[in-house]
Amino acid sequence: MRTEALASDEKRMNLGVVPPAGGPPLSSAAQEKRCVYRQITDEQICILTFDRPNSSANVFDRETLHELDDHLDFIADSTELKGVVLTSAKNSIFIAGADLHALAGASADDLASLIELGQSVFGRVAALNIPTAAAIHGACVGGGFELCLACDSRVASPDRATKIGLPETQLGILPAWGGSTRLPRLIGLPRALDVILGGKTLAAKQALKYGMVDDLVPRERLVEFACRKILTQRSELRRRRHRFKHWATNNRLFAMALSLRIESRLLKKTRGHYPAVFKALEVVTRGLSRPPAESLALEREAMLELARTEECHNLIRIFFMQERARKRSYIVGATPAVAKPVDRTAVIGAGVMGAGIAQWLSSRGLPVILRDVNAEQVAKGMAGVAQLYQEGVKRHLFTKLEARAGLDRIFPSPAEAPLRNVDLIIEAAVEKMDLKKKIFQELGELAGPNTVLATNTSALSVSEIAASTKSPERVVGIHFFNPVHRMQLVEVVVARQASSETVQRAVRFVQQIGKLPVVVKDSPGFLVNRILMPYLIEAGHLFEAGASVEDIDAAMLDFGMPMGPLRLLDEVGVDVAHHVAGELEVKFSDRMQTPRVLAQMLKAGLLGRKSERGFYLYNSKTPEVNSGLSLFQEKDWARNFPREELQKRMALLMVNEAARCLEEELVTEPSDVDFAMIMGTGFAPFRGGPLRHADSRGVEKVVGEMKRLVDSGGAYFAPCTLLQRMADDGRRFYAEKGHQ
Ligand code: NAD
Repeated sequence: MRTEALASDEKRMNLGVVPPAGGPPLSSAAQEKRCVYRQITDEQICILTFDRPNSSANVFDRETLHELDDHLDFIADSTELKGVVLTSAKNSIFIAGADLHALAGASADDLASLIELGQSVFGRVAALNIPTAAAIHGACVGGGFELCLACDSRVASPDRATKIGLPETQLGILPAWGGSTRLPRLIGLPRALDVILGGKTLAAKQALKYGMVDDLVPRERLVEFACRKILTQRSELRRRRHRFKHWATNNRLFAMALSLRIESRLLKKTRGHYPAVFKALEVVTRGLSRPPAESLALEREAMLELARTEECHNLIRIFFMQERARKRSYIVGATPAVAKPVDRTAVIGAGVMGAGIAQWLSSRGLPVILRDVNAEQVAKGMAGVAQLYQEGVKRHLFTKLEARAGLDRIFPSPAEAPLRNVDLIIEAAVEKMDLKKKIFQELGELAGPNTVLATNTSALSVSEIAASTKSPERVVGIHFFNPVHRMQLVEVVVARQASSETVQRAVRFVQQIGKLPVVVKDSPGFLVNRILMPYLIEAGHLFEAGASVEDIDAAMLDFGMPMGPLRLLDEVGVDVAHHVAGELEVKFSDRMQTPRVLAQMLKAGLLGRKSERGFYLYNSKTPEVNSGLSLFQEKDWARNFPREELQKRMALLMVNEAARCLEEELVTEPSDVDFAMIMGTGFAPFRGGPLRHADSRGVEKVVGEMKRLVDSGGAYFAPCTLLQRMADDGRRFYAEKGHQ
């Protein structure tokens, strides 16, 4: 096929739905549900285009697999066809994998048959006696990429939207539609394990480097290129099917040695908590030295086993919660689309957070006025923004041009700036109530009548700040986490006086900039810090009472936290933690007494990572425990606590505070608490959040443990009323035990 011929060819193609050969004509209802469209070019290439109706995404469910199977009947029966090209009509998605809702709701038998169906349909693609090519633009992940792996060739657009990979292990499962079998045969065992065990999704350029795609071609020419490739390289493509590649790595001995090495690394990294990665390692390495059919059988068995695990249920739930947060309106009867999108923004305060927020907003295409007290502070902030962009370029998140354009969208402002036409202002100045009140008083005067006034405060009362303006109904907390470019969660804090329109606009804004909102009532520490603080405080107390830094941190790493609590205190900054703990102590003095060690460290200039000294020393490549701190260990009641005891105490305090937040209706649902803790603190994702964790341990048991600690002198472990009542009534936070 000639390049220029395609556009006109397309017009002459047999467009629209073609009923499977020999089958009855499709009813209009069936046509409406169709997801895969078939076209035949004049040069006898069959183009299958995935285009799920009424959706921006293509996914694989049972019906779509059957539909594809029907097309394969037609293709197999045809004697004319010279090849098949698979593509998508969606803007930014090729195929986003299996429909997780279908997967989550399936019984064991249903799941088994779904896996078999996928394997068999993709197996048919792989076995066609004409060459096949996938023309990939947009997200091509999980089952979507497994389909591509069954093709002879893969061509992809280099666009940012194109992301290719197998993220299954992140959901507690493994690629079981042939991915665990075909990927190592295509790109070699080490790289395949890297992708599968890491649950990686790669940019097109990287996928090309890995050998996961063969060519990068501009989006407009993808299908044409794939067709041409089939016509010009037919015999080469067919030869490739039987070529044995990667002989040095794809053999039993190498696989065994590599598997042992990786297993010990995985154990260290996951502390044995994520069964999917271990299972995937086993399936890929064992399957490699067996015939593909046996390897596929291993995939099936492993998938069925993993799908039953609580880890898998919890990880899939997180995926659903993220999806929900992207769209949820939070206000009964309203949809986020009703709220006007934000076009112009301003950030007041160009420190760590202000610079981070300005960079994020500008990278999302929003113009930002960045204001601080003087030119020097603004320049510092701009340097911070530039550094974030530079790092982004290094990590291939932006091109140099995009970084430049992003930077240009920020207007540094050392003096008063015109704010009348700004839709939303975020204040991120120093954490002092008087200062914030003054800033908001001014903002109330300077901003337009519809401007949303937001504060990024971590611990001050948003309602009190709001009261300083002439229009408190427009004030809301928009609490980003540090570092802004990495943390997806944003707390939208509802001040007492906030209008529902303000809250809705704030939620919509957070969604607009690609972050995940959780709406919380204005209360000290809001949601995440409120639950995290008792945990960090307990870590401080245990340290003072003689437990070692190593034991305290290891106990919580064993629990599944991404870093130990003392290390986290260093990262947050001992000064910041001391301040937030102090704010919370004022309100909750019965159970949150700031450990003395924080004040002592502050006095000694041990601020954590920012001063290179805290619970750890940061002047070498790997942080080392700061043994000098033993000076501050003035008691010894925790000196001989085993790690399990340390873990229990710290984890129980999070559960108790999480339940209290629900009891006080800071949020409306248990899943809000769990979602916020996982996204905001990295709370052991496989446990599904503190409340889900309480459910799986049994609320009654958890309450019993708390009471035992109260009896041994720890009054602050007293279970909150909600937990006590639930234990008495034998209730759970979540009604069901399944995925949803
Ligand atoms: P920072 O000290 O790094 O920056 C504060 C900036 O505010 C400074 O550049 C300062 O010059 C500027 N400033 C002071 N008065 C001002 C005024 N009148 N007008 C404009 N700018 C003024 O502080 P940060 O860590 O970026 O924190 C900012 C806010 O974000 C605080 O409310 C803090 O509680 C909150 N926060 C911080 C973190 C964190 O981890 N650092 C996380 C979440 C929220």
